[in-house]
Amino acid sequence: MSQQTIKVALAGNPNSGKTTLFNALTGAHQQVGNYPGITVEKKEGFLELNGYSLHFIDLPGTYSLTAYSQEELVARNFLVHERPDLVVDVINANSLERNLYLAIQILELGAPLILALNMMDEVRAQGININSSLLSKRLGVPVVETVARQGLGKKMLVQTILKTAQQSPQWKPLTISYGPDLDPAIQEMVAHIQEANFQTNTYPPRWLALKFLENDEEIKSIVLKENPALYKKIEQIHKTVSDHCEQTLNTYPEAIIADYRYGFISSLLKDVVKKNTHTERIAISDQIDKVLTHKVMGPIFMFLVLYGVYKLTFFLGEYPLHWLNAFFDFIALTIDRLLPAGLLKSLLISGVIGGVGGVISFVPLIAVMFLFLSFLEDSGYMARVAYMLDRIFRFFGLHGSSIMPFIISGGIAGGCAVPGVMAARTLRSPKEKLATILTVPFMTCGAKLPVFILLTGIFFPTQKAFVLFSISMLGWVVALFVAKFLRSTIIRGPATPFVMELPPYRLPTWQGLLIHSWEKTWMYLKKAGTVILGISIFIWFLMTFPTLPQHQALTYLKQIKQLELKIQQLSNKSKNTELLAKLKQKQKTLVQQLKREKLLHSFAGRLGKSLEKFTQLAGFDWKINIALLGGFAAKEVIISTLGTVYSLDTSNEGANLAAKIQKDPSWTKAKAIALMIFVLLYAPCMVTIVTIAKEESWLWAGFSLVFNTIVAFALSSLAYQLLS
Ligand code: GDP
Ligand code: MG
Repeated sequence: MSQQTIKVALAGNPNSGKTTLFNALTGAHQQVGNYPGITVEKKEGFLELNGYSLHFIDLPGTYSLTAYSQEELVARNFLVHERPDLVVDVINANSLERNLYLAIQILELGAPLILALNMMDEVRAQGININSSLLSKRLGVPVVETVARQGLGKKMLVQTILKTAQQSPQWKPLTISYGPDLDPAIQEMVAHIQEANFQTNTYPPRWLALKFLENDEEIKSIVLKENPALYKKIEQIHKTVSDHCEQTLNTYPEAIIADYRYGFISSLLKDVVKKNTHTERIAISDQIDKVLTHKVMGPIFMFLVLYGVYKLTFFLGEYPLHWLNAFFDFIALTIDRLLPAGLLKSLLISGVIGGVGGVISFVPLIAVMFLFLSFLEDSGYMARVAYMLDRIFRFFGLHGSSIMPFIISGGIAGGCAVPGVMAARTLRSPKEKLATILTVPFMTCGAKLPVFILLTGIFFPTQKAFVLFSISMLGWVVALFVAKFLRSTIIRGPATPFVMELPPYRLPTWQGLLIHSWEKTWMYLKKAGTVILGISIFIWFLMTFPTLPQHQALTYLKQIKQLELKIQQLSNKSKNTELLAKLKQKQKTLVQQLKREKLLHSFAGRLGKSLEKFTQLAGFDWKINIALLGGFAAKEVIISTLGTVYSLDTSNEGANLAAKIQKDPSWTKAKAIALMIFVLLYAPCMVTIVTIAKEESWLWAGFSLVFNTIVAFALSSLAYQLLS
């Protein structure tokens, strides 16, 4: 039975894993001997497969095939004289460039080559990507990736050896250009060698010529011994080019050869080796994180970022907000002019425009907020914020990511719970998200501020800042403890395990940011818009019906009409500005008083009155109750409703609300504090309620309405009772 034997030499740099690969391939089938005449160990091994006998020879490790050392000599002579069918060059893929230097020389010798890219485990661990198929295409030799120590790629290598051997590859030397100085010299030498027909079957002529240029003593002595005439000719050329190089380039041929080989290698490797951008990004991220999550600098930077986002959101959102408000004011004014006084006009102005305007005026805020939020999220910074704050928030059953919703909602006084509730979308855990959404309305939103400013101005004129700050802090304290309470009762559940691995930073794209924020803003408009119109009309209904009996309204209307006539006459004739102003003020008061009568007669008015029995506990009379009922629609309404309700105080005509409250003996510091606490904590405004409903459910929206009001009432009553 004739078995085909394939002789395979394993070449490679020292420590590239040749022996390990050799052992993996041949197992116990090994013979150890010496190369004839020298002490360099010669290892041979066998592998029988598919009717082939593979005969492996583990060559000594070498960096080149120039005879600088005994190992190089042995390896080279084996290749030159034994002519293996195949050479497997075992390459330490960690230093591909340096290892390919040997491969190039083997190819210049003409040996059929297979590259085994060994140590691929280490290469991959460093996040380096080697495109071995591109390298294979460029070099024109098969490339197999291996991890010799684990025996990985062994099968593939054997298959490749068999496949290559079956094609009976021929020895065909690779030709590399060595530049304008050496190439002509090499060509001349080759011509002489071919002319002399000097052992061209053993040594490729070009290779032989190169050995002269490399000053290879062994080759030179062989040529000198076998053909002194040829030697003389070649050595003459060598000397000439050598001198030339020394004079013109201040270098010698060997160095030029090495340069061109490395040049060739680096063009081979172009786009072959890629540092994985992923790991590179992780490395950069780690560097950034050394600063951004630093124990001291991290929180400082975080505070600046959060504060900056908050400021920018409300600063940038304010301009379009003003334009929108002006636009809706303009429409309201136009309707006011065009339509006669009556229910339709009132419905359109207070119900429809108030509702639609209320929804739309939040759009700029939400859009800008999502723009920044998307930036923080997409860039990866939000994860760092969450990471830094997680321990604190976790204690309260929340998540580090809860910080943004809190701040946007008014954690820094002046926010708004509508974008705040929507900002909770960044929370992944449903329970933590719910707890966040239910507690952010406790923050000091911009609409609550006028109430606080009015009351602190009246009752704490010297400690304004301190009281305002305390109120703001109270919002935080209540929010966090209510969160803790909810998370240990009705929304009980484990905290999300915090993933310590932070995603690498990346620069978000404008397109991505704009699309994200537009999508979310549009969702808000679509979802909230329709519902809020209905609620707004309902609240209008409560504050309008039943209407004031005709005769009661008429007394006011008559007086107002009379005053108007008088004002007209006066302003046409004389220039008695003092009297004119007085009359105008009187008319204004009358209009307010009519409004007040209407309000008192309405369901809301009656409700406010009947609630007095309860609200006395917190010191609230029916006037405050009505204003607070109006506040369910929007907190901005509280002050204007209070103004309306207090308009009857004619003894103090023309005085503003603050002056009226100041003169009212029923107002005390305790009452003011109780009211501030109540306004801070009670039911979210209707737009927030609807937003909660859309983000969670109507059940939770209803819960927040009732629950927050109870919390608010309990705390404000407690404060009132303790203080008075
Ligand atoms: P040789 O000098 O080319 O014969 O290399 P050896 O086979 O003696 O291997 C040199 C070192 O590299 C040894 O410690 C091997 O365990 C190790 N080694 C060989 N192949 C691999 C590999 O694929 N991955 C890793 N990580 N180490 C390897
Ligand atoms: Mg070895």
